[in-house]
Amino acid sequence: MSDIIFEERKDQIHVTGEGPFKLACNRDSLAGAVSQRACVFCGSRVVLYPIADALHLVHGPIGCAAYTWDIRGALSSGPELHRLSFSTDLQEKDVIFGGEKKLEAALTELIDRHEPKAAFVYSTCIVGIIGDDLAAVCKKVSAQKGIPVIPVQSEGFKGNKREGYLAACKAMFTLMGTGDTSDIPPISLNILGDFNLAGEIWIIREYFERMGIRVVANITGDGRVGDIAKAHGAALNVVQCSGSTMDLAKMMRETYGTPSVKVSYFGIEDMAEALYTVARFFKGLDPDMLARTQALVKEELAVLYPKLARFRQDLEGKKAAIYVGGAFKAFSLIKAFRHLGMSVVIAGSQTGTPEDYEELASICDPGTIIVDDANPLELSAFLKEKDVDIFVGGVKERPIAYKLGVGFCDHNHERKEALEGFVGMYNFALEVHRTVMSPVWRFVPRRAGKTLAAGISDLPKECSI
Ligand code: SF4
Repeated sequence: MSDIIFEERKDQIHVTGEGPFKLACNRDSLAGAVSQRACVFCGSRVVLYPIADALHLVHGPIGCAAYTWDIRGALSSGPELHRLSFSTDLQEKDVIFGGEKKLEAALTELIDRHEPKAAFVYSTCIVGIIGDDLAAVCKKVSAQKGIPVIPVQSEGFKGNKREGYLAACKAMFTLMGTGDTSDIPPISLNILGDFNLAGEIWIIREYFERMGIRVVANITGDGRVGDIAKAHGAALNVVQCSGSTMDLAKMMRETYGTPSVKVSYFGIEDMAEALYTVARFFKGLDPDMLARTQALVKEELAVLYPKLARFRQDLEGKKAAIYVGGAFKAFSLIKAFRHLGMSVVIAGSQTGTPEDYEELASICDPGTIIVDDANPLELSAFLKEKDVDIFVGGVKERPIAYKLGVGFCDHNHERKEALEGFVGMYNFALEVHRTVMSPVWRFVPRRAGKTLAAGISDLPKECSI
């Protein structure tokens, strides 16, 4: 394994139980290492993109917009403007003479044509290099059109994906405080850090509504500009995916005094704990809420547990690898796999913090590989070394899994299956079972070489991956 790891990356990989835990993270990616992690611009785009009634205009070459077009399967219950990808398509001439005029013309035309509630204008690498004044153009068009036109300072090269989350939070924060909060009841919250992949936010909203809570704003899945503008009127911020919107929660706490709690909606314990955390927060205003929440959880588990038991019969003892965006997801996934009788032997993330990795190491079994900001070569080597049965990742990890003949579950922002909530745990178990138990893996040369060696000893060399 060590011969494929760059010297400079050795301290971003750790095997639990082998010496004291120490992992370097949140560094800029090593040039040439073909990181699985995305750039600053991409980080900001994925956070803001699900705001469905806003215009999203990428100021840069067409490649930046194409790279992030419809990047999340973020569903909307109303407008779908977010699903269109607009770009100023900067060319050589614009790079030499500047792209501000082109940006102004594009914004004016798009606002007239689509009548959005607000516009986000993303800065890309080349815009940072040529120095277009995004803020000045946005201010001018905002005054002309009478809607917020918000610059997102997300030049791709200026850091890593986490920097993009911060740029997105700063942009969103400029909307807050501008909406009317007079109709918001005291028992109310905002959902932060959920992107409504496959409609997941609707599952979570329904739980909160059953508990008697008003959801003011979804930030950002199924998001609306008007809701975000009055989000400061909610009593609580419930933050999932700590990396992407924690900065916004901090800004809201400092400016409006809004408290926040950190939760995960994935897996049985974390989903139940998320609801109980919120119920405990409001117990002073509604003493019966905790009992209602317990009844809700009991009702859901009565349906779920017998179904999981059936999957566990086949999956007991199988091994999983996880490589996800935020480390927070990995905690919930490890617990979910344990419910299926499976162990996680590789756990990695693109944007984990030192605290995230400390916690991750503490819940992993000895011998687990923990990796920050990995590349395909490393991931392939780890998967082969640990001989896993399933790899959980995103669009960039899927081909790695399939090429190695390993089952795959999409747990990233392209997923089409709702995996949050109690129903999501069932969907997850079903997907894991289907891929791990698929008979197709019997025909993978790497595994066939192990089990059918005598009969297929004349396999071509290129098959012995
Ligand atoms: S912003 Fe820069 S790094 Fe990001 S996609 Fe565009 S060119 Fe690539």
